[in-house]
Amino acid sequence: MKKKNSYRNIQVKNSYRLCPHLQRVEFTGEDLNDFPVGEEGAYVKVILEADKNNIAPDTRPKMRSYTIANFDAETKTLSLDFLVKYHEGHTATWAKNSKPGDQIVIAGPGPRKIYEFPKTDYFLMGDLTSINAVKAYLNLAPKEATGEAYIAVPSKEDIHEIELNNGIKLNWLDVNEMEHFIKPLKNYSELSENTVVFGAGEAEEINKVRKYLTKEKMLPTDNLFLSGYWKRGMTDEEYRTEKAKNRK
Ligand SMILES: Cc1cc2nc3c(=O)[nH]c(=O)nc-3n(C[C@H](O)[C@H](O)[C@H](O)COP(=O)(O)OP(=O)(O)OC[C@H]3O[C@@H](n4cnc5c(N)ncnc54)[C@H](O)[C@@H]3O)c2cc1C
Repeated sequence: MKKKNSYRNIQVKNSYRLCPHLQRVEFTGEDLNDFPVGEEGAYVKVILEADKNNIAPDTRPKMRSYTIANFDAETKTLSLDFLVKYHEGHTATWAKNSKPGDQIVIAGPGPRKIYEFPKTDYFLMGDLTSINAVKAYLNLAPKEATGEAYIAVPSKEDIHEIELNNGIKLNWLDVNEMEHFIKPLKNYSELSENTVVFGAGEAEEINKVRKYLTKEKMLPTDNLFLSGYWKRGMTDEEYRTEKAKNRK
């Protein structure tokens, strides 16, 4: 993603509130002509520069990950959903105020966590930052799939209809409640090494989930797809620096 020629200039076509804490921004641009189809649930890096040519070679501009909500190949429209009114982030603030014609740069897409769906038991967890990954997996899981999905939201008004086409039951949680993911996970009686578990959201909450599944339930990691998308009290840069330190 560092190469200059992998950056794409895109411009805002439409920007509107999908629910109180999610701003849907639709982008177009010639650089989307070769954007891959079928990558909903994967992510792009959003860079708040007006032109990719402003990015000096061999530098890493400030960038944030956002999940592909939809890409319409016919109209070359890329839709991303930004969490807003919940934190004071520079990207969130940009999204809240975005208007048609605004220019930004993206890099990617980077891959989503799951591409193969041979299993039939699913336990999916997300918040509004990962709702589009959960939606993608709800959609991609086979018709005969069963299980549970949980989406944690800041307010009841953020709950909205999601089309379901298999037996995975969708539930909504309060994101402000501590341990919002671990409680329903502990109550899930079908959990086994054949359950595909996806979880993405606040880093500490995801760490608790990881610890429970690998240390308490002793599940192998083959079917566990867990990712801290953000960390309370840290900007994205601070969180990534911390992760890099912990890896050493
Ligand atoms: C693969 C991947 C896909 C992602 N997809 C999406 C997506 O589709 N939509 C989306 O909105 N986010 C998504 N995120 C999360 C997003 O990249 C981070 O939340 C990012 O930090 C937001 O950048 P910012 O500039 O708004 O805030 P930052 O400048 O990074 O942070 C400013 C302050 O806000 C706090 N903060 C950051 N994020 C949150 C949050 N979610 N809730 C509460 N406080 C927060 C920080 O702790 C910090 O104190 C994704 C992350 C990953 C890794």
